[in-house]
Amino acid sequence: MTVRVRIAPSPTGNLHIGTARTAVFNWLYARRHGGQFILRIEDTDLERSKAEYTENIQTGLTWLGLTWDEGPFFQTQRLEHYRQAIQTLLDKGLAYRCYCTPEELEQMREQQKAQNLAPRYDNRHRHLSPEQQAAFEAEGRQAVIRFIIDDEREIRWQDQIRGQMLWKGSDLGGDMVIARTPDNPMDSFGQPLYNLAVVVDDIDMAITHVIRGEDHIANTAKQILLYEALEAAVPEFAHTPLILNKEGRKLSKRDGVTSIDDFKNMGFLPQALANYMTLLGWTPPDSTQEIFSLAEAASQFSLERVNKAGAKFDWDKLDWINSQYLHQLPPVELVTLLTPYWQGAGYTVDLEQDGAWWQQLAALIGPSLTRLTDGVKESQLLLTEAITLSPEGQEQLQQPGAKAVLTDISDWLATGEVLTAESAKTKINELTKALGVKKGVVMKSLRVGLMGTVHGPDLIQSWQLLHQKGWDQSRLAQALQTLA
Ligand code: GLU
Repeated sequence: MTVRVRIAPSPTGNLHIGTARTAVFNWLYARRHGGQFILRIEDTDLERSKAEYTENIQTGLTWLGLTWDEGPFFQTQRLEHYRQAIQTLLDKGLAYRCYCTPEELEQMREQQKAQNLAPRYDNRHRHLSPEQQAAFEAEGRQAVIRFIIDDEREIRWQDQIRGQMLWKGSDLGGDMVIARTPDNPMDSFGQPLYNLAVVVDDIDMAITHVIRGEDHIANTAKQILLYEALEAAVPEFAHTPLILNKEGRKLSKRDGVTSIDDFKNMGFLPQALANYMTLLGWTPPDSTQEIFSLAEAASQFSLERVNKAGAKFDWDKLDWINSQYLHQLPPVELVTLLTPYWQGAGYTVDLEQDGAWWQQLAALIGPSLTRLTDGVKESQLLLTEAITLSPEGQEQLQQPGAKAVLTDISDWLATGEVLTAESAKTKINELTKALGVKKGVVMKSLRVGLMGTVHGPDLIQSWQLLHQKGWDQSRLAQALQTLA
């Protein structure tokens, strides 16, 4: 048997973290078993579905490296298949027309509430006679199609994550609507609904394993009944745990992030986010291993090692994983990724002319990055011709020897000395001796003269970068002027 799994997002919003994590698990399972991963866009809700969301979902999955083998298939292009299935169920007497009006349904609910009963459809039109049907139609009523759910049924399945599952037919809310009333009175029934469409698709697409969020468990019970009614093999089901925030509630808009774009904009790398998502609910065989490529995770992935309990979203861990990936990126790639952030902050980045300089800068700040968005903060001391003297910087320049350090280095640079890491270090050592001060005084003063502040990236490398632009001399001159 070839494993065939799918991700079936509704394009009613941008690619959501929960959907993306479900996609990760499906992708891993498909790759682990040499199977196929299918993308299906569940766009039957015409009011809420938008082409831009379909686009965003595909771009997001691709960005994360979750390539699909088949699709995208669109439910709106498959309506005929759903209609046929509904007709089959009607012909078999497994579905029927229900003519209840919204008011009648509301009244039913009110009565149930008054009796402290759970709201459900009471199956009142299950056995209408042809005469009763004709009478309702003569009144101009339109029918929905309901699928019969036997209250006595017990629906069991062996969930690949949650183990043995049991649902009672009586807990499914009564006979289920599978098609709305027709928009066009000439049609026999209207728009097919979610549970029916999913089952028809999963049958047609020969899906062997349905791996999806645990919020679909009740749907699974209903869908199993539909498989049986349509005389199709029931696939395996695996319900993945929800993603929770640190308070233990479902991660939501209130947590500031929902879509994959939000994470991208926050400066996370796709490979780091995908890596993190594999660990959101799955424990690898070596539970200490935390850094994985998707392909590596796939070679070890199994549904048995997916937890039942909700998966807490851990920002510190995501940050840590992101930093591990960032620190390993070659400078040339880092420059490409950081350029939009530098440009966004108003700096001119001309890689054709100055590519080597930007690469050295990326190599210098790379180890201090947690997110790409840190790129500006970590490099801004080196991106302008002038310095801004911090209060501690000003204080440092008042220390004995500071002015002499700046003057001496300025004079030395004016001679056109070639600045290398070696020559810079030698110069600092010589100056320390000549001035009879502590080396720290020289280093700190020079740092302030070059960068305006007492903290920052490696001094010698920073100096070299500034030197290539000719900014070391102008900055030292600026600092000296404040001491004049
Ligand atoms: N369209 C459903 C959703 O976005 C997925 C249904 C499924 O995976 O069966 O939640």
